[in-house]
Amino acid sequence: MTLNKILIVSGTHGNEINPVWAVKQFCKQNNITKNNIEYKFIIGNPLACKKGVRYINSDLNRCFDFKKNLGKTNYEFDRAKLLVEKFGIRSSEPCAIAIDLHTTTANMGTSIVMYGRRNKDFCLAALLQNKFGLPIYLHENDNNQKGFLVEAWPCGLVIEVGSVAQNFYDPNIVNRFLVIINDLRDEINKLKNNLIKLPKELIVHVHQGSVDYPREKNGCINGIIHPERINQDWVHIKKGEPLFLDKNGNTIFYNGDSNICPVFIGEVAYQEKNIAMSYTKKEVIFSAEEWVTEFLSL
Ligand SMILES: [Zn+2]
Repeated sequence: MTLNKILIVSGTHGNEINPVWAVKQFCKQNNITKNNIEYKFIIGNPLACKKGVRYINSDLNRCFDFKKNLGKTNYEFDRAKLLVEKFGIRSSEPCAIAIDLHTTTANMGTSIVMYGRRNKDFCLAALLQNKFGLPIYLHENDNNQKGFLVEAWPCGLVIEVGSVAQNFYDPNIVNRFLVIINDLRDEINKLKNNLIKLPKELIVHVHQGSVDYPREKNGCINGIIHPERINQDWVHIKKGEPLFLDKNGNTIFYNGDSNICPVFIGEVAYQEKNIAMSYTKKEVIFSAEEWVTEFLSL
């Protein structure tokens, strides 16, 4: 039985400081164990946190594909290994679930990010969507982006809160993390004791790919997010609607055929990944019995 330990990771990105503060505040004011579930807290990337940067050598939240990274070593690769050795399912303090707390500079509000279609993740996401009405971004099938932290645990989700600037404390953002950390164990406890049922349907926004800024031959950005698009995360966009505005005042339009909902619009940290926004498509998934049985057998 490992469901009695949940790993809460903050500071996976060193310049996302609000979840780190939220965890400190939570630990001062609450019991670490409640409803027979113990929280284990860890700062993902302490050196990057100290320096106020996203990472030192590599993005820690892309370092958990251990097969791909076999033999590689740097601060974050080593840190990823250490986190799994300390709190992974085969460690001395095994946690069944990992919750990774992040902030975004994009205007996405509070959302859940899940990676792939694991039944246990669906169960946890459904619990949180049911309680808080949070949108879910389902990230899958992107060969350019792999090795996310929560994938190294049997069950895990990212909680992503925005918008907030990097290295900027915002008490409202802190509070949103506190509410989720506070209520998560209660919801799991209710599910265990048959006091709640999962909703019949889960609404997810499935990752379709990402689009880069328009760029000059030398790589410099040659167009910013269009004023009609900026801050419009989760809002549908159709063919022919504006995406970017270049230096000459020309509009660059969305040219795809399908209706999509962009997310992470203008996320600062993704400029280096050549991502101006990611495209998602809404999908309704019917809840399955196995979600709960697999989750509760963790
Ligand atoms: Zn982050």
